[in-house]
Amino acid sequence: MRRPRRYEEQPAGGHTPGATGKPLEELVRGWRARPPERQAYREQSLAIHGLICAKCAREFDYKDRHLLTVHHKDGNWKNNPPDGSNWENLCVYCHDDEHSRGSST
Ligand SMILES: [Zn+2]
Ligand SMILES: [Zn+2]
Repeated sequence: MRRPRRYEEQPAGGHTPGATGKPLEELVRGWRARPPERQAYREQSLAIHGLICAKCAREFDYKDRHLLTVHHKDGNWKNNPPDGSNWENLCVYCHDDEHSRGSST
């Protein structure tokens, strides 16, 4: 049994936390379900680090930027230094993978 994720609400519908191979639209929906106050730093992070995944180095067009999410290196989403030092831009695939491994850092 995995720990429940504390960075997002679990989508309804019997979704298994940490399951791999989820459809992209489900991943996107999950990350987009975050409350607005958690979206504010997202634009900053994208502006600082660019539209590129820090893990797989995949680059994204502006129109595909919803596929990029902001990961907090220390696992604390309230820690948002303006220089972006606690942020890492990860694509939805890598971000899901990152947390699926049980690492919150
Ligand atoms: Zn990636
Ligand atoms: Zn994360």
